[in-house]
Amino acid sequence: MSAADRFVVVGAGLGGSLLATRLAESGRTVDLYEMRADPRRGDTAGGGPGGRSINLAISTRGLHALERVGLGEAVRGMAVPMRGRMLHARSGRRTFLRYGNTADQVLHSVSRDELNRALLDRAERSGEVRLHFGRRCTGVDLDGGRLTVAAAAPPAAPSEEARTPTRVGQD
Ligand SMILES: Cc1cc2nc3c(=O)[nH]c(=O)nc-3n(C[C@H](O)[C@H](O)[C@H](O)COP(=O)(O)OP(=O)(O)OC[C@H]3O[C@@H](n4cnc5c(N)ncnc54)[C@H](O)[C@@H]3O)c2cc1C
Repeated sequence: MSAADRFVVVGAGLGGSLLATRLAESGRTVDLYEMRADPRRGDTAGGGPGGRSINLAISTRGLHALERVGLGEAVRGMAVPMRGRMLHARSGRRTFLRYGNTADQVLHSVSRDELNRALLDRAERSGEVRLHFGRRCTGVDLDGGRLTVAAAAPPAAPSEEARTPTRVGQD
């Protein structure tokens, strides 16, 4: 594998974990750095169970991206369809505004945390994504192809360097 096929992605949120999976599926290896702890290990700092996390409204475009990595059905299964919004006038009159033109055009409300966990599992299953949690990117040398990562929380480990021609900041 050439150096050009090795990627570093910083940020294992929704975009980073999806991107890492897509890169892995196109034959690349990916090191994915995330400053927070792994949300699948019971940590609530990222808005996990017991933490603060609002639901996310996914449109058809978002579902298409998830279908590309085989998660469409799973995400539909965890989603609550939202058909539109209700406007409440001072008079008490209520007006329903559909999100789509037809009744089947809806937004899908999903738990951000649950979605993030599913995407991380998927990235891991690809076999070509190495996940590094609790590692914060603290510097990037764009010309030299170097990235510095350090422990995000005590106990502080020495910072290390990741070398790659291709880096993606995903936040
Ligand atoms: C209040 C709110 C409501 C929203 N509602 C919706 C909605 O309903 N529907 C919708 O489609 N979108 C919504 N969005 C937008 C949606 O959250 C973003 O589009 C999506 O999360 C972007 O994904 P991301 O991976 O780029 O960023 P994030 O999901 O934010 O992930 C970024 C990750 O990078 C990590 N990170 C950051 N800096 C570093 C560093 N230096 N080193 C290592 N890791 C780092 C962070 O810890 C985080 O995990 C909402 C956003 C907000 C703020």
